[in-house]
Amino acid sequence: MPLQQLIDDAMRQVTADKSLFDQHSEQSGKTEDKALAALFRISGALQTSLDIHLVIQAFYDGLIDMFGTSTLEYSHEDSKLKLAHGILGRHRCNYQLTLHGKTLGEVTISRRKRFTKAEILLLENLLCTLVNPLNNALLYQEALAAALRDPLTNLNNRRAMEATLVRETELAKRNRTLLSLITLDIDFFKKINDTYGHLTGDKVIVEVANALQNAVRSCDIVFRYGGEEFVVILSGTNTHGAHLLAERVRKTIEAQLIPHEDGDINISASLGVATFEHADDKHSLFSKADAALYQAKRMGRNRTEIYSDETTSANTAAPVESPKKGLTRNEIASKVGFAEATL
Ligand code: GH3
Ligand code: MG
Ligand code: MG
Repeated sequence: MPLQQLIDDAMRQVTADKSLFDQHSEQSGKTEDKALAALFRISGALQTSLDIHLVIQAFYDGLIDMFGTSTLEYSHEDSKLKLAHGILGRHRCNYQLTLHGKTLGEVTISRRKRFTKAEILLLENLLCTLVNPLNNALLYQEALAAALRDPLTNLNNRRAMEATLVRETELAKRNRTLLSLITLDIDFFKKINDTYGHLTGDKVIVEVANALQNAVRSCDIVFRYGGEEFVVILSGTNTHGAHLLAERVRKTIEAQLIPHEDGDINISASLGVATFEHADDKHSLFSKADAALYQAKRMGRNRTEIYSDETTSANTAAPVESPKKGLTRNEIASKVGFAEATL
């Protein structure tokens, strides 16, 4: 579902809940029931944000309002979320929240003093007011995450890369820490599309994404920058380390066979490596890695080049030539490469 639609749906839900609440307030007027008034107050506060942290905070404020000192733990496995307010006490009430069969997470409320039956009833009413705002906040969070993800490969996308690169270059500059960048572009990818169709082309993109993702450490971040172009941000890594990784990835891709009914396809990629220097910023670091990548293209493809002051500008077009290694059946096969066993 498109991001805007998800947000609109979430907002519509919030607005609907708010108008119901307003309607009820009007009808009940100045209620003498303190607990009910508190319940509506909390319900109102819960509608004010789509940020899950703020929603849980508003709920916790409501808990304090109603029960005095108490603690709250909230966890949601799918979004790997675990929020805690205070340290769990001896007497605990635990609830699994669901809405129309959808799991909204687990809430544990505790305090030192035992909860009375009336308090538990009140607590459960309070939890009912949490369900819709929580669902909206989770939907919003999913939409935000989806906006930073590439749906084909499930990697972070270009927008995420730009934000990460700003953060990482600022950190490297401030703390004088190491930072390297790898850019990768699949060789002769257009020919793969032209020969086998876009679906196979997509499959190749996914395989390369998996090869990259499997090769990196958990602190390295892989992005799909564009069509058949990828970027890896390696914090705490020098040129030597980045080059080793780039070569490992290149060799994995070179050895990989993409199954196809006309014969398995073998592919290759060219990579560029650049390391952050103090005078760099996100633009210059990216340009250096890109220039190194185009140098690799110019020098025959299926290779890794490290940026140096001698590296020429990335804008110089790379000549189209046959891959260094490729098993030919015809001219296209020589550009794309087929597995020998299938010839
Ligand atoms: P080079 O070796 O110089 O990199 O040549 P190339 O053919 O790989 O590069 P070129 O930039 O000419 O072609 C990239 C192609 O990628 C063109 C575009 O149609 C295709 N493409 C872009 N995004 C996608 C996608 O999501 N799926 C598929 N299947 N193809 C895509
Ligand atoms: Mg390209
Ligand atoms: Mg390419």
